[in-house]
Amino acid sequence: NGVKTLKVDDTPLPKSKNLNVLQEFEKKKSKKTASFVVVGHVDAGKSTLMGRLLLDLKVVDQRTIDKYRKEAESLGKSSFALAWVLDQGTEERSRGVTIDIATNRFETETTSFTILDAPGHRDFIPNMIAGASQADFAILVIDASTGAFESGLKGQTREHSLLIRSMGVSRVIVAVNKLDTVRWSQERFDEISHQVSGFLSATGFQTKNISFVPLSGLHGDNIVKRSDDPAISWYKGPTLIEELENSEPMARALHKPLRMTVSEVYKTALSPLTISGRVDAGSLQNGDALLVQPSGEKAYVKALELDMEPVDWAVAGQNVVIHLSNIDPIHVRVGDIICDPNNPVSCIDTFTMKALAFDILMPMQVDVHRGRLHTGGQIQEITAILNKTTGAVIKKKPKIVKPANVARIVVKMASKVPLEPGQRVVLRSSGETVAAGLLE
Ligand code: GDP
Repeated sequence: NGVKTLKVDDTPLPKSKNLNVLQEFEKKKSKKTASFVVVGHVDAGKSTLMGRLLLDLKVVDQRTIDKYRKEAESLGKSSFALAWVLDQGTEERSRGVTIDIATNRFETETTSFTILDAPGHRDFIPNMIAGASQADFAILVIDASTGAFESGLKGQTREHSLLIRSMGVSRVIVAVNKLDTVRWSQERFDEISHQVSGFLSATGFQTKNISFVPLSGLHGDNIVKRSDDPAISWYKGPTLIEELENSEPMARALHKPLRMTVSEVYKTALSPLTISGRVDAGSLQNGDALLVQPSGEKAYVKALELDMEPVDWAVAGQNVVIHLSNIDPIHVRVGDIICDPNNPVSCIDTFTMKALAFDILMPMQVDVHRGRLHTGGQIQEITAILNKTTGAVIKKKPKIVKPANVARIVVKMASKVPLEPGQRVVLRSSGETVAAGLLE
């Protein structure tokens, strides 16, 4: 319409205060931050549980829930009211499935949490990968009702557990849900705990990093409030929120060079190019020069925001909004890596990874998923089969890798992407997850 839009913000470069960010961070004694992913078979009650958690912590109010309930009833699905708290957008609601990672944050006295919600539908595994690649720990939701636990075990419970473990998540809280449907049977809880703990250990989780909480997401028992139902007086352990608070987040890579994966790109009043994402490593401050990969373009930090407040700096583990200057928006896309220009991530098209096989692996076409992005590629070579726990070479140059084995493989991608050792990658083929693991 003839209006000239400002594409590149070329106002004078912002001045750096040259703060020692790590010292500032120490001084501030910021609240512990932790993020978790919620996994489990479809219909296990994940959304309901998270809705209940937010309701009981008063992050959302009963009025919002009532509003959703009315809407739900008009569609004949009133039981979904709590689940809907997590689902934004009516399109998602009318399908009754959460379709993206809803990043929901809440705080307790000790910790600021981010829920990386992961819907259980098969097609949504790529979203779960994105969630798990950022998570400090996982809540595995199990449907304890008769028959459901057994079919969940055959279904996604096992696949999700394998996936989160191979993505580097080491702590899991098992929410033994819907125990109200079996009259809070301790026997049922013990039986489920026994079986789940068996396969979680076989998957590589250490027993000390697994805990079980008997609960009901629908009724709100043992989530924030301890159940007063005499039928569950046998349980004296922590509630779900206590387990969450007791979980130690993974060590933050504060002293490493800056790395941030771009999760959103948009325009704001402050800048024609504003991005958001979680700082994976290092720190940044206003005025810093940044490098965007794969484009290799430089930009400057014009302003920073944390939790909608302007701030001078941000560190690893925080979700930050960055207003950029001196860069054309065409050079930045979702999934790009923002890094330190003096210590940048390089773009590669071939890498070696230690992969846990979910299916038979051989030289074949695969989709390489890293965070929310994926690229076409192929398994070029299987270098060795490794011992699952020690990583020692068991067999060199095997023809194939059988499911549940760990192997060192070489993968070639169709294009160069920013990737470096330690990153979590998932390989899929024909819509199925075939392997997951860490870049070496
Ligand atoms: P998701 O697919 O794992 O997110 O599962 P939902 O949260 O959508 O729940 C699936 C169904 O289980 C819904 O009908 C819920 O009302 C029901 N549900 C969830 N939690 C409980 C619970 O603790 N007890 C009972 N009885 N039903 C539950």
